[in-house]
Amino acid sequence: MEKLIIIKYGELTTKKDNINYFIKTLNDNVKKTLSSFDVSINYDKGRMYIECSEEYFDNIITKLKRIFGIHEIMIGYKFNERNIDSIGNNTVKLLKETTFDTFKVITKRSDKTYELDSMEISRKIGGYILKNIDNVKVDVHNPEKEIFIELRKDAVYIYFEKIKGIGGYPVGTLGKGILMLSGGIDSPVAGFLAMKRGVKIEGVYFESPPHTSENAKNKVIELANILSEYNSSMKLHVINFTKIQEEIYKNIPHEYLITIMRRMMYRITEMIARKNNAHAIINGESIGQVASQTLTSMTVINEVIKTPVIRPVACFDKLEIIDIAKNIDTYETSILPYEDCCTIFVPDHPVINPEHDKCVEYEKLINYEELIYEAVKNHEIIKITNENKYQDLL
Ligand code: ATP
Ligand code: MG
Repeated sequence: MEKLIIIKYGELTTKKDNINYFIKTLNDNVKKTLSSFDVSINYDKGRMYIECSEEYFDNIITKLKRIFGIHEIMIGYKFNERNIDSIGNNTVKLLKETTFDTFKVITKRSDKTYELDSMEISRKIGGYILKNIDNVKVDVHNPEKEIFIELRKDAVYIYFEKIKGIGGYPVGTLGKGILMLSGGIDSPVAGFLAMKRGVKIEGVYFESPPHTSENAKNKVIELANILSEYNSSMKLHVINFTKIQEEIYKNIPHEYLITIMRRMMYRITEMIARKNNAHAIINGESIGQVASQTLTSMTVINEVIKTPVIRPVACFDKLEIIDIAKNIDTYETSILPYEDCCTIFVPDHPVINPEHDKCVEYEKLINYEELIYEAVKNHEIIKITNENKYQDLL
């Protein structure tokens, strides 16, 4: 008998044509995430099996709970003997280590050549249990103990509990996007939601030293670090935005500061996307949250680029976004009080309905193409692997 971790895939099983690609990507992500553990990972079309020393189980399950594409996680037992008497004896042996009053046996038979069907196996194993364990009864509606038996070609797997996985599609199966990652609450949540749909993300962060501090940057790195646990690793592109912001501040009417600044951010992010083979931009804009997020503002800002912009939290209330941020562990970092480049140059009265023609006219007042080119050429890339964190857990 071997004790092991069994993974059941999520939504990916509905993608019939791509199933192998989905499962292989999930397997790659699991391998990468567990690279610091001594594990053996095998998979077939229905399940993934992780074998390792039992002392790592808790840590590994904590990691698996953050991998998209996993529907359920089970701690189970593998037996090579597949005849019905052995299954019965082994089930009873395992059950004798626990106490319960009522039970139900649920069998899944993926090996259709086996001599008994699922119902017959469940009935027979139920019989074994009733005969060998005192004072227990079958309850098919509300059993205290559920006994799952999976009959596969190579072996029989038995388990009693299922841990809920995070669901979604394996990260990377639906391409790559660039996440505009500020230190706020919204953008990490937006990144998380995009990853959930299978989009691998790289972050872009605009800093304005000395107006923004090293602490503000470290906060964004920490957020990227947390997000990388869902993404298996992550690149963060850091753009020095100081010159561009100062030029805008000096030359452009202040009610348009934010609009023009965001048009510049979009242009730069699109350049980063193209350079890195990403097909979408993801950000934390939410309709109506601030002046730059009215529908007219978003239109005038969006028009400078062609790459699709995905705004996963566009229609969420702030409280709904906060709930997700708390669940994914980014909230506590997001509320650290460090300044963002957007907040420093905020005018008293930002325009709520900016006009296209005015943006074009004002942008002629600065030599933005050269500034953008310089900023992209000299940008810093931070690779976040999260490996140090894994070591800490061991
Ligand atoms: P967040 O939206 O992350 O909580 P925020 O609300 O302070 O922070 P906004 O000013 O609302 O940020 O900006 C909207 C979106 O623009 C952010 O969600 C983020 O995607 C992007 N953004 C803003 N500032 C930056 C920055 N300094 N670097 C990268 N992206 C940024
Ligand atoms: Mg916001």
